[in-house]
Amino acid sequence: MVQTKLRIAIQKSGRLYEDSVKLLSECGIDLRNVKDRLKTESDDFPLEVFFLRDDDIPQYVEDGVADIGIVGENVMYEKGRKVTVVEKLGFGKCRLSVAIPRNQQYEGAQSLHGKRIATSYPNLVKKFLADNNAVAEIHEISGSVEIAPGIGLADVVADLVSSGSTLFMNGLKEVETILQSQAVLIKNDKFNGEQLALLNKLLFRIQAVKKAKRNKYVLLNAPNDKLNEIISLLPGMKSPTVLPLAESGWSSVHSVLSEDEFWERIEALKNAGAQGILVVPIQKMIV
Ligand code: ATP
Ligand code: ZN
Repeated sequence: MVQTKLRIAIQKSGRLYEDSVKLLSECGIDLRNVKDRLKTESDDFPLEVFFLRDDDIPQYVEDGVADIGIVGENVMYEKGRKVTVVEKLGFGKCRLSVAIPRNQQYEGAQSLHGKRIATSYPNLVKKFLADNNAVAEIHEISGSVEIAPGIGLADVVADLVSSGSTLFMNGLKEVETILQSQAVLIKNDKFNGEQLALLNKLLFRIQAVKKAKRNKYVLLNAPNDKLNEIISLLPGMKSPTVLPLAESGWSSVHSVLSEDEFWERIEALKNAGAQGILVVPIQKMIV
C-alpha cells in the first residue's frame, strides 16, 4: 500500500523561507538537502516539500499540485484563489499601505482620485479604490515600488511595509493601511480523510509550537508565609506546582506565564517577596 504524503509548498527563498523551514523543524520535521532543490522529503513525517516563488503558491494549492502551503495573506488575497486558511502562523507580519511624497497632504482615500499608483498588488488596490469610490490609474510593477514617485513613474505607491524605513528613505510617508498581513497555512479545498488526518496531526504540532512561543516557564523561591499571595499572582495551566526547598520555611514555585502579562506579573511577584526568579523558554506546549 502506498503511504499518503502531504505535499506542502513553501517559499524557495525570501522573507518567508527561513521561518517556514524553522516552523517545520520545531514541529519535528527536519528537511534534508534543502539547498537549491525543487522539492525534498522529510524522514520524520509523511511530508513532501515543494520550494516555489510565493506568488505561485496559492495556485499550486488550489490546483492540488500541493495540498497545503505557507504564504503571506497579502499574496493569498491578491491572487484570489479558492483555498482555505487553516492557521495564522504569526510570522511574516507586514501591511499593504498607501504612501505619498512626504511634502504632500492626504485627505482620505478621495485624495487618490485621478492619481497614478504604483503597486505589486493591483487587485487589492483596485478593491480598496472601489470601496472608497475613487478612480485611479494603477501601474503594476513587480519590485522596488518605492522608487516609482522619485523617478516620475507614479504619484503614489501601495507597497508592503514592516518598519516603514524603506518608505522614509525614499521620501515617502505612509498614509493608509489597505491590509494587515502575516504568513498563513492554506489548504486545498478537496481533501480526503487520510489527508485530513495528516493535516490535523501537523496542525496539532504547529499549535503546540505557537502556544509555547507565547508562554514562559517561571521558577521562583518563595517564603512560605508569602506563598498564598505569590500563588494568587500566578495563573499556571491548572495551578502552580509548589515544592518544599531544603531550607525550611521556603518553597519553590513553578508556573507558566503568558507573554502579554509577563513583565507586570514578574514585578508583582518580586514585590510580593519572590526570590531567585528563573524564566525559561518553553519548546512545546500541549494543553
Ligand atoms: P519570490 O521570489 O518568492 O516571489 P518576493 O520577492 O515576492 O519573493 P519577499 O520579499 O521574499 O517576496 O516577501 C515574501 C513575503 O514576506 C511577502 O509577500 C509578505 O507576505 C512578507 N513580508 C513581511 N514583511 C515584509 C516587508 N517588509 N516587505 C515585503 N514583504 C514582507
Ligand atoms: Zn513574490
